[in-house]
Amino acid sequence: MGDNNSNSKAVYNRVVIKLSGEALAGSKGFGIDNDVLDMVADQIIEVYNMGLQVAVIVGGGNIWRGRSGIGMDRSTADYMGMLATVINALALQDALENKDIQTRVQTAIEMRQIAEPYIRRKAMRHLEKGRVVIFACGTGNPYFSTDTTAALRAAEIDAEVILLAKNVDGVYDDDPRKNPNAKKLDYISYIDVLNRGLNVMDTTAISLCMDNKIPIIVFGLADNHSIRDAVLGKKIGTTIE
Ligand code: UDP
Repeated sequence: MGDNNSNSKAVYNRVVIKLSGEALAGSKGFGIDNDVLDMVADQIIEVYNMGLQVAVIVGGGNIWRGRSGIGMDRSTADYMGMLATVINALALQDALENKDIQTRVQTAIEMRQIAEPYIRRKAMRHLEKGRVVIFACGTGNPYFSTDTTAALRAAEIDAEVILLAKNVDGVYDDDPRKNPNAKKLDYISYIDVLNRGLNVMDTTAISLCMDNKIPIIVFGLADNHSIRDAVLGKKIGTTIE
């Protein structure tokens, strides 16, 4: 947690921030954009400095998605996706540590020369000691997503909320890229997301959050203070609860 003790206004103590891989790619849509990485690190540090305990789940879609592996064995393609998340996790770790923030990367698939293995109690201890914990390799299982990982880890470490940073600024009632009349929703229930087939998180992730009563705030990272505004309880993006 940060050290300037200005957490009186934050409405949470321990949060999970889910960064999609695309959020790190910027306008290029692929790979890692250094300026975007820097901006994301600053946004994380801003809430860290409010005294919050911050765990980050990184996606891998800016490098590889299992479903890109057309004609490939699905599990192999998914393991490639999990490895992609490690590249993003190390990049984010580097960006945060360049700004003097202590971090730990924990991977769901062991790669001890690179990062710690995921150990729940150790992750919670790191958070208590004020280290930003970055979870990589998703759940460690093919056929899952990093959104589901966010739901799982949030439940495991007792996080109060998932802050889902996307390239779009919330949940719409239709695809805003295809329908110019699509409306942004302020609130929506888990069950409505499922019933209406809204493409915000996969159904496994949504139902895990629903079963464990973990609220999700979906927002875009384009505004430089969106994570801060979310933890201050300001009305940004869409809340799923
Ligand atoms: N993945 C997986 N199991 C997990 C998490 C991720 O197999 O528990 C794989 C899956 O192939 C996925 C890829 O890793 O497509 C990258 O993750 P994701 O698509 O969730 O990243 P994002 O869309 O958030 O960038």
